[in-house]
Amino acid sequence: MNPDQKVFTLEELESGQYDSRLYQEMDFGELLKFAQANPHVSYSAYQKMLQTILSYGFEKYKFTRRDFIHYPFFDDPFNNGRDAVFGLDKQMMRLAEVFKAGAARLGQERRIILLHGPVGSSKTTIARLLRNGLQKFTQTNEGQLFTYSWVPRDDEDKEIMGLAKSSLKELRCPVHEDPLLLLPEDTRIKIMSAMNNTSIYDRKESKERPRRPEELVFLEGEICPLCRLVYKELLRKQKGDWKKVVSDYLKVRRLIFSEVDRIGIGSFRPKDEKNQDSTELSGDINYRKIAEFGSESDPRAFNFDGEFQVSNRGFFYVEEAFKLDKAFLYDFLGATQEHRIKPKRFPEMYVDCVYMGGTNNPEYEKLRDDETMEAFRDRTTRIDVPYVLKLAQEERIYKKVYKEVPGQKHIAPHTIEMASLWALLTRVKKSNKPQTQGISLRNKIRLYDGKTVSGFTEEHIHDLMFENPDEGMQGISPRYIQDQIGNAIVEDTDVHCISWFTVKKELEEGLNSHSLLKGSQRLQDYKNLLAEVEEEFTETVKGEVQEAVAGDEKDVDILFNKYIENVIAYINKEKIEDHRGELVEPDEQLMSEIEEKAGVSASGKDEYRARLVQSMGTFARRKRSFDYKSDEQLCRGLKLKLFEDRKDTINLSTLHTRVIDPEEQEKIEVIKKRMVERFGYCQICATLVMNHVASIWASGTKAKQLALNS
Ligand SMILES: [Zn+2]
Ligand SMILES: [Zn+2]
Repeated sequence: MNPDQKVFTLEELESGQYDSRLYQEMDFGELLKFAQANPHVSYSAYQKMLQTILSYGFEKYKFTRRDFIHYPFFDDPFNNGRDAVFGLDKQMMRLAEVFKAGAARLGQERRIILLHGPVGSSKTTIARLLRNGLQKFTQTNEGQLFTYSWVPRDDEDKEIMGLAKSSLKELRCPVHEDPLLLLPEDTRIKIMSAMNNTSIYDRKESKERPRRPEELVFLEGEICPLCRLVYKELLRKQKGDWKKVVSDYLKVRRLIFSEVDRIGIGSFRPKDEKNQDSTELSGDINYRKIAEFGSESDPRAFNFDGEFQVSNRGFFYVEEAFKLDKAFLYDFLGATQEHRIKPKRFPEMYVDCVYMGGTNNPEYEKLRDDETMEAFRDRTTRIDVPYVLKLAQEERIYKKVYKEVPGQKHIAPHTIEMASLWALLTRVKKSNKPQTQGISLRNKIRLYDGKTVSGFTEEHIHDLMFENPDEGMQGISPRYIQDQIGNAIVEDTDVHCISWFTVKKELEEGLNSHSLLKGSQRLQDYKNLLAEVEEEFTETVKGEVQEAVAGDEKDVDILFNKYIENVIAYINKEKIEDHRGELVEPDEQLMSEIEEKAGVSASGKDEYRARLVQSMGTFARRKRSFDYKSDEQLCRGLKLKLFEDRKDTINLSTLHTRVIDPEEQEKIEVIKKRMVERFGYCQICATLVMNHVASIWASGTKAKQLALNS
């Protein structure tokens, strides 16, 4: 046993999950009073869903000068972000609006929400978040709900409740309905208006305000067939004294949604079309009990445990909704449109739920022109869930999965970035608008990522974003990328580092066996895009190797100070001291060499120098120090100049050909060390990348020589 291991005793363990309030019980009279002060206990499914999302707050921000809202709910706050949805603020804003419209009873509460998106987009994740979030919410004070059980007082009651031959001490409402539905119609109105007259405390404004439409309570629907039978029988026994029935026989208890316990959360995944059985959705006759109650239509001989009943008051998600048998689709329509379902041999019963389905494009298209589906489509609210189009967000998807774990292989810098870039390149579309049509896909991705590209304004970004409504609905799925990175990791080699080269190989090979792409033009396009990514990769790592060759930060700093000293003297028309202490003219050659590498034209150098001196003044006034990083252009020039100066002192071909010369080797080790410390490479990938860059330089030099010789 590990001597450092801490062993816990039961007394030491604390859990926030089992609060005694979650087991709260009361009688009907108490609930009636409580509900009039806390109307949220009778909120509809849509209202609760809206509250769930809002309970995590929201953040307003601007992008391309438009207002956006980010809902932290979708960052998966209840699971440490493991299930977060990335880059879909626009779509999640729409979803929140849909919930709000349903909460305010504007008609949305009678629609199915359809998440429509390509395979591997976040449809299922969104549904899972809603499901988990709603469950958690019912455990909070703002999310508290109640339901009830019937408690018999004598043997006759037991008979009425169907408990005579059972060991159960009480009869729970099988659809965990709101106890307030037991109020006779005419009294409901009174209670409703009392509930809706309460105010709500606005935290932002720090004051009470009247309830908004989405916060009004309606107490809609009737009790289920089983409770109805019991209620009627008890009413008969008590000669119509309904108050006595609800106060003497009811136990009100806290309702907590739980998927595993099948309370408030339903789901369905269509299997083979022929195997779909409506009892899975609407419940089934309990044949063993028919003998006891003598009739197939006695609710006591029926199991109200179909997914529709389970999900009452909560949330229902159907994966691959369009694979549902048509008869089933109509069941769904009834449940959404009328809030009613029809169990076998029973009259319709009331249900309230947020119904959501997922579908991918091929399925959706297949049924697009099917007339019998018209009714269904007409009653769905479609929300497109495209693939991520922001590079940083796409990277987060994989980084979340491949966080460095001890003992795992090293993932070389830029590996995930390049894989993400490739995924995005397969998803974005060329622009055909006159103002933006020249833009490369690569630059388009930069703009989407919030970076600047010269010549393009925020207005352009906005135009690009809305030019192709189906952008992101096609392309490579994150799942594919994940699988291939996973392959690279588990591949049984001695190399403990995964680089872009390894992943690229997997991505390319995987394409050949990609079932959706076989023999298509897209397959070739995607391969060409891999080559484009390779270029980007080379450019990026070239810059890093250059920096590593150029030297340490202090080398850049020394050159920077020297340059600035010269520039200030030049602007002030002064002389400077050289290393012998003699006054000389500013070093024009040094300055122009650096400026040339910074991309300043010969004719623009005076202006550039003046601007630099000016910004130094601004920095000084703001009490900030001006260093080599303060001007990006200058920084680049300085590093390149250092690199050019040093490059010739290191025989780069040794990198490539691996000639072992101890002196050369030492220089190379220094560069490698910088790669590791500055950019996060390991020994393996640093060598790999340096070889790659060296071979490109070597061929570049050869090309130059050829050009000179010709
Ligand atoms: Zn019931
Ligand atoms: Zn590595």
